[in-house]
Amino acid sequence: MKIAIFPGDGIGPEVIEQARRVLDTLSLHGLTLFEGDVGGIAYKRHGHPLPAETLEMAKAADAVLFGAVGDPECDDLPREHRPEQAILGLRSELGLFANLRPAAGFAGLEDLSPLKPELARGIDLLVVRELNGDVYFGDKGERQSDGGREGWDAMSYNEAEVRRIAHLGFQAAQKRRKRLTSVDKANVLETSRIWRETVIEVARDYPDVALDHMYVDNAAMQMVRSPGQFDVMLTGNLFGDILSDQASAVVGSIGLLASASLGERKTEYGTFGLYEPIHGSAPDIAGQGEANPIATILSLAMLLRHSLGREEDARRIERAVSQVIASDTRGADLGGSATTAEIGDAVLRALQSA
Ligand code: NAD
Repeated sequence: MKIAIFPGDGIGPEVIEQARRVLDTLSLHGLTLFEGDVGGIAYKRHGHPLPAETLEMAKAADAVLFGAVGDPECDDLPREHRPEQAILGLRSELGLFANLRPAAGFAGLEDLSPLKPELARGIDLLVVRELNGDVYFGDKGERQSDGGREGWDAMSYNEAEVRRIAHLGFQAAQKRRKRLTSVDKANVLETSRIWRETVIEVARDYPDVALDHMYVDNAAMQMVRSPGQFDVMLTGNLFGDILSDQASAVVGSIGLLASASLGERKTEYGTFGLYEPIHGSAPDIAGQGEANPIATILSLAMLLRHSLGREEDARRIERAVSQVIASDTRGADLGGSATTAEIGDAVLRALQSA
């Protein structure tokens, strides 16, 4: 089992350090860890935000655990040398086509959600977003029109692309509450019509999963009116970008939310993937011991589940985290005063006492 660890910039190394301590306590037999530079630190040391040796390390691993990238000292660099290019480069070079973002209301944190506590308590959803297609990757350009300069971006999905992500969404639903809501705009977009027809076709392979369809505008509204109705939300790149951010906002703090980006490559133990907290490098709190490491620790749990086939270890970590969140050990983002290391200590204690 090989894990490549890329701490990156800002709070990235601080939160990764705590996830590494959690990984160490599991004492996994035959585990090899590699550490590489990404982002601003990689640019400063190697002249590129995604050095060739880092990429090779990722390709040779079963999974990548990623901290965060982003460094204000690099803001004036040309776009191809900016730290954020590392994550885009890894996504495309590693063929990561699916982004999974769980969002669940934690007991004890209902008051931090912008939603009413009774609504926040019921949230337990997973956004499965296609990552390699849609309007972000279509032809685009600028042309002259009667109204002046006109920008255009082509949106498209073919059946193979939709099938690939739909299978992944249904399989995820099978391991959860067996409900899948496919989100599209099939009343006006041809892309969405193909999306919907293909999802219906794929659903025949998963008779145990209940499928429904929702237009994206309604889905955005339902997510704040009654988020508890959702289990897996399957959607394309553009709609998924927006809905997954909305889903994270309704939970409460950005320091709690994990994500996985999965590729097609199968490892000996599962599916190759890159796992990272959804937050960035938070330069405003970097080096102060204030970062909440829970999002990264939960990303490690996802890594164990999807890439290393270690469901029981993943659940143990998730249980330990829920226990810590329900206790008094809270970081500044949750209105407490615990430091990054103290939160890590509390998760280790909860793991060891379980
Ligand atoms: P951010 O997520 O870094 O921070 C937003 C706010 O949330 C800040 O106030 C920060 O202090 C707080 N915060 C974030 N993570 C936290 C944690 N774990 N614990 C406690 N508080 C936390 O977003 P930003 O400020 O917009 O971006 C900062 C840099 O990160 C930029 O360079 C941006 O491009 C980059 N970024 C990188 C990624 C990535 O690596 N995948 C994602 C988003 C942003």
